Amino acid sequence: MRAFTYERPADAGAALQAIARPGAKYIAGGTNLLDLMKVEVETPAHLVDVSRLPLAQIDETENGGLRIGATVTNSDLAAHRLVRERYPMLARALLNGASGQLRNQATTAGNLLQRTRCYYFYDTSKPCNKRTPGSGCSALNGYNRIHAVLGASDACIATHPSDMAVAMTAFDAEVETQTAGRGSRQIKLADLHRLPGTTPQTETALESGELITAVRLPPPPAGGQVYRKVRDRASYDFALVSVAALIDIDGDRIRAARIALGGVAHKPWRALDAERTLVGKPANANAFAAAGAAAMAGARGYGHNDFKIALASRTVARALADAARQQKG
Ligand code: SF4
Repeated sequence: MRAFTYERPADAGAALQAIARPGAKYIAGGTNLLDLMKVEVETPAHLVDVSRLPLAQIDETENGGLRIGATVTNSDLAAHRLVRERYPMLARALLNGASGQLRNQATTAGNLLQRTRCYYFYDTSKPCNKRTPGSGCSALNGYNRIHAVLGASDACIATHPSDMAVAMTAFDAEVETQTAGRGSRQIKLADLHRLPGTTPQTETALESGELITAVRLPPPPAGGQVYRKVRDRASYDFALVSVAALIDIDGDRIRAARIALGGVAHKPWRALDAERTLVGKPANANAFAAAGAAAMAGARGYGHNDFKIALASRTVARALADAARQQKG
């Protein structure tokens, strides 16, 4: 690990000033950043600890949604009464992520900004365009069981590892940020993470030094909501495929549906075409299977991860069926 300096600002304004130092980087829970520093994939010269900023509140908004402070831990978010009552899919996604110890430490903003778990990204002896732009992608023709099947490029086929972000994407969450020069703004979570294209090292729409201060959830939509995660180890693992499914049924017809997938792309993947195929259809296995197929239209495997395409399609269908059953009670 390289030597670095450290400070803990008292408020967001001080943090925005501190991050202007050369080589500075924010740290909160540090559950991913410290691992990356140990293997010298991340080598910040200065750490700005934002974990004690007054951003650990969860508040109900005027329109019946929630405002979740950036430093709320994953454990506190999953256990919050309003999350469990109104956004149980989010609570489920959080509890499917990492271990109890990690969830006690990991924060809401840090969860969104965690880096890929691509093996080659962590192995500095191997080429990786995300770590060293222009060096090549070792996963393209390497062992790529955990890699992307949607939205990837020849430069990078990594996936985003968050469960929480998948559920929040299905809820149409927005991220609140602050920048030293420009003040605050809101970014749709669906627009926060980028696809790799030719610049996989640029992972988000955030500007240099931009600080995430909160996540806003709109009021929860009507109907059933299910988070289903498929992984190699049930006790603790990242998703091979995960699905956040929301469905609202009127009589025997589907009034509305939302589908987001994890473990399949460089960002939480919203399956808008699949959602559209469901509206107005009878809520049955045929409709759910068709939505699963539509969600994976255009998917491409890279060898070891070919199985993900069929797995994701079936997981979408199963999550929709579970959500429909949940709504009917
Ligand atoms: Fe690096 Fe992305 Fe290729 Fe993994 S998939 S080796 S992160 S460029």
